[in-house]
Order: sequence, then C-alpha cells, then structure tokens
Amino acid sequence: MDTVALTRSIKEKALEIGFDLVGISPVGPFPESQFFKEWLSKGFNGEMKYMERNSERREDLRRVFPEARSVISCGLNYNTEYPYSINRVDKQRGWISRYAWGDDYHEVIKDRLSKLLGFIREVSPVEVKALIYVDTGPVLERVYGRYGGIGWIGKNTCLINQKIGSWIFIGEIITNLELNYDSPVPDRCGTCRRCIDACPTGALVKPYVLDSRLCISYLTIELRGKIPVELREKVGNNVFGCDICQDVCPWNRRAKFSRETSFLPREGLLNPELSSLLELAEEDFKKVFRKSPVKRAKRGGFIRNVLVAMGNSGNKRFIPHVKRLLKDADPLVRAHAVWALWKLEGKDALETIKGLLAKEHDPMVREEILNVMNQGL
Ligand code: SF4
Ligand code: SF4
Repeated sequence: MDTVALTRSIKEKALEIGFDLVGISPVGPFPESQFFKEWLSKGFNGEMKYMERNSERREDLRRVFPEARSVISCGLNYNTEYPYSINRVDKQRGWISRYAWGDDYHEVIKDRLSKLLGFIREVSPVEVKALIYVDTGPVLERVYGRYGGIGWIGKNTCLINQKIGSWIFIGEIITNLELNYDSPVPDRCGTCRRCIDACPTGALVKPYVLDSRLCISYLTIELRGKIPVELREKVGNNVFGCDICQDVCPWNRRAKFSRETSFLPREGLLNPELSSLLELAEEDFKKVFRKSPVKRAKRGGFIRNVLVAMGNSGNKRFIPHVKRLLKDADPLVRAHAVWALWKLEGKDALETIKGLLAKEHDPMVREEILNVMNQGL
C-alpha cells in the first residue's frame, strides 16, 4: 500500500469507527508554539502549572518521540439537541458546560483511537510506532487540528469546523508513518467579535488570547482555592465550565447534533436544580459523577461553585441550604457559604456570620468572614 492509499484508508476507517472529523498534519514545529510560550510568560495559564512543565515538549513533539512524522487528528461532535446557556434556560438553576453532561470523553475517544491504531498496524507496510493523546500529552491539540484541516482556531480560542461548529472533542495519533498532509484551515472569524463582547469576565483579553485566570471554565474547574471575590458575581449560574463564547458563535447557530448517546445529559444535569446539587456529600458526589468530567472539580470545588451560583441567584429560598453548609467539614465550602449567605440575606446575615468567627480557626474562612463584616459596617 502506498502513502496515498494508506492515508485514504486511515481516514475512511476513522469515519467508520465513528469520528466526525479526521485530518493529518506534519508534527511541526508550528509558529503557534511561539505564541504558546508568550502566553505562558504572561501567566495566563494561572495555576495550571503542568503546562509550564511540558512547554518544551509541547513546542516540538519530536523531543518526546524522535521518529514522529505525522499527526492524525480526530474530532468527535458532542453537541446534543438541547438549548444553549444563553437562551431558554432557567437562570435560577445552575449550568453545567455542554461537554460535561454525559460520559467522560477521554475514555470514549481513547477507545476509538486505539481501534484506529489497531487498523493502521494491520494495513501499514512498515512497522508502526505511535502514541495516542487525548487532552493529556504535551500536544497543542487545536494547532494540530488546524494544520490537519479539521478547523480553525477562533477568536474564542476554540477549534471551529465550518460544517459542524465548535462542539468538538479532539484526540490524536502521533506516528512515525509518512502520510499525505491536509492544508491548514483559513480563519473564518472575519470581523465578528461576538465571543469577546459576550464574555462576562473579559477573559478574552484580545482576539485569540484567553487569560485563563479570568475564565469561568478555569475558575469553576481548574482553580483549587477560593474564587476571587471580584469575579464571583460574573460567574453567574455556571457551576461547572462556561459555554457562553461558544453559544454566541454564529458557526454554532446551526451546529450538527452528535450521533453519540454517551454525551446526552445524565438525569438532572441539564440546567440543574441548585439545591439538589448542594446536598451532595462526598460519597454521593462520587456516585453521581462517576465517569463524568465533573469529577475533576472534586466535591469541595463543585459545592463552592454551587454556592456562588446560589449567592448570585438572589433567591431567598436557598438560605436554609446555604446555612447548613456554614458547618461543612471543608473550609473551601464554609468560606463560600459565608459569601453566599451575605449575598442572599445582606445585613440580616451579619449576626450569624459574626457568630462564626469565635469558633472558626481556618485562615481562609476567617478572611471571608472578616471581609463580609467589613462590608457590613
Ligand atoms: S468560557 Fe466563558 S468566561 Fe471563558 S472565555 Fe468563554 S465566555 Fe469567557
Ligand atoms: S463568535 Fe465570531 S469571533 Fe468569536 S469565534 Fe465565533 S466567529 Fe469567531
């Protein structure tokens, strides 16, 4: 089998296995690697220090895998037939990012890439060396996607495909095989800047540049500590991730629906009722979010987010729920319960909050109590 036939059969197989997109690029390096270095140097990665640790390897894949020649990028559409967060949803309830409604995509994609690799090994005339990456390895996935022809990187920093939009999971097979390469996709954002204008926190500091430290997805998923006070109101009702800059994108207006049933929302996760989420103890959290992307936030981080959303709701019905969590074992939860109670009850909460100070020894919670007391003076 020659290179042309091998390339064609790999692409046909990828689609047959159930991927929606497949494209092939060389391994680089690409000019975007320089951009990534600058982005890191500005601290835009926040607490995601693992990005710095692997930055050299991200820059040039051949440092990890010297024989690497080609990257096969595969995309899977995860859009399901449910409303966007910007319309037809109840703002008194929470919002979990679309990608996290169903099963963890890492496993789904890894299984398919393994099948594809098995096929490549069967048909290749030469020995195949390969690595599989799904969001884990030192790979600039969107850059490979772009050079592999499956989409362009939009001003919202997501990979956008002209036909199916930006609700795409991607994974790659890096291989020693010489294959035919696709052409990079041209930028089709044009003069549009809807994502930048719609972002509640100004995290898209300029077109194509995201300051993660301001991004609600980072704040509600990656950040381990307290959500900065000045950003909490802007988090709105987002309890895990944020879809706004994709919801407003015109390329998602008629985005296709996925054939995957594993990405359909699990019961209770679409525009979820906040009080039911708040009741989750450690064991319940593990059970409800088993094999779900949401488990990444851990119970403390997730409940922190729910408390912020409750504080932002202005709905006094949540007060008894919030009060219960003033005694939670996790200081992160207690600290955000103090803030949520203050938001919901205002000055009426001051006596309760003051009363906590004598018994509270955790510096993070004490700081939160003192902040509220200062504001209440
Ligand atoms: S995910 Fe939300 S907060 Fe982050 S850049 Fe997009 S709109 Fe802004
Ligand atoms: S909203 Fe407009 S500018 Fe932003 S990614 Fe979509 S097309 Fe590009």
